Amino acid sequence: MLAELSSELIVEVQHTANLLVSKQRICILTGAGISAESGIPTFRDKQTGLWSQYRAEDLATCAAFARDPQLVWSWYQWRRQLVSDKTPNPAHHALAQWQQHAGLKNQPLTIITQNVDDLHEQAGSTVTHLHGHLWRNRCSQCGMLHNGANNKNSSNSITSNRNSANNSATAHHYNEELLNCTDCGGYIRPDIVWFGESLPIEAWQTAENAAANCDVFISIGTSSLVYPAAGLAQIAKQNDAKIIEINPNPTPNTVVDVTLAANAGMVLPALVKQISGLLS
Ligand code: NAD
Ligand code: ZN
Repeated sequence: MLAELSSELIVEVQHTANLLVSKQRICILTGAGISAESGIPTFRDKQTGLWSQYRAEDLATCAAFARDPQLVWSWYQWRRQLVSDKTPNPAHHALAQWQQHAGLKNQPLTIITQNVDDLHEQAGSTVTHLHGHLWRNRCSQCGMLHNGANNKNSSNSITSNRNSANNSATAHHYNEELLNCTDCGGYIRPDIVWFGESLPIEAWQTAENAAANCDVFISIGTSSLVYPAAGLAQIAKQNDAKIIEINPNPTPNTVVDVTLAANAGMVLPALVKQISGLLS
């Protein structure tokens, strides 16, 4: 595993592992970059095919949905199709393994994600979703969770909704027909936090608490551009946490103490292996 990394990075991973085993409380924030190696494009990647003329930022807003609900719904059905066969990569698996080990030792390891996919869950992690869930729908008017083809049976289960978000009889074909709420008639929308919308209160409180009370904060695969999530590293820093960033590209995050500048799918398995070795 370590053989795949440059000698410089190996040393940095070893130092980082030493730092991590000397600390108790870990808070991890992930972004689109952690799912990139699973084949899910990040938000900064250019859109492809039919959608290449649009920017994601212009579709993921309340105003866009109010103006043209069909366009926004079709885009999300397309995104669901794109994500439906994607599976966790070594970065998701390494985090799940680390979280499991930490749990056995009663060490708090909180994973917060900005991603709306469920690859962390598929790998076996427990995560807090700041920006909602791709596989859930709700009414744009009354807010009721919507499960399946135009029925009001709401459920909090992401995996069950992964199938029901596909309101078509054909597997892997996501019907673009708009749905209406059976209660109030409003349009059904994805249960995702759009630009300009507030974060779910409970999820934000979990994230803020974990960031304010951690010894180490690790930012993985996020451009650190979208607030309030991008502010979590600052909250951690103000409370004397060490800040680690895993990202092959530079970000505007100015509070970072350690940068591991490589793909998460390479760095995390190596890091978690080092940590396990030091702890055993
Ligand atoms: P992002 O696309 O802004 O940034 C992804 C980051 O991952 C980049 O910094 C990139 O260098 C890094 N990266 C790429 N490959 C990597 C790899 N293999 N390993 C590690 N890092 C890698 O994604 P973000 O920071 O998660 O965006 C923040 C939030 O903005 C999103 O979660 C989303 O909620 C929101 N957003 C949503 C939409 C939308 O819903 N359409 C559009 C834009 C932004
Ligand atoms: Zn409704």
